[in-house]
Amino acid sequence: MDDYQFACYYTDCPRRYNTKFNLQRHINTQHLNIRNFQCDFCEKRFPSKQNLREHNYIHTNEKPFFCKYEGCDKHFRQSSQLAVHHKIHKRREEPAQPLLPDICVERQLQCPRLPLPASLSNPL
Ligand SMILES: [Zn+2]
Ligand SMILES: [Zn+2]
Ligand SMILES: [Zn+2]
Repeated sequence: MDDYQFACYYTDCPRRYNTKFNLQRHINTQHLNIRNFQCDFCEKRFPSKQNLREHNYIHTNEKPFFCKYEGCDKHFRQSSQLAVHHKIHKRREEPAQPLLPDICVERQLQCPRLPLPASLSNPL
């Protein structure tokens, strides 16, 4: 018994569906090119294929966006989540405090214990 009785009526398209709704959705997305991407697994719709693909990872349990930093094995479903995560690494790379010698060059009188750079020790 063939449940997929709703065949797509577009030429050269072999797709068949078990409900009229599924067929209409297929026609809207595949043939009418409506920018309205619906998830195959749930009722959510997305404005772009990329959005839908990233959403689909929720259903397939894939996390294809992985952190490129060494020693970090975090994976994410969405590129935006990965971008947020990368900020954590970037923040760690930046020194929290300005380097001390730079401050001391400006305030040498207040910081007598640190030696001055050679270029500044003998001002002309
Ligand atoms: Zn079709
Ligand atoms: Zn979904
Ligand atoms: Zn990471």
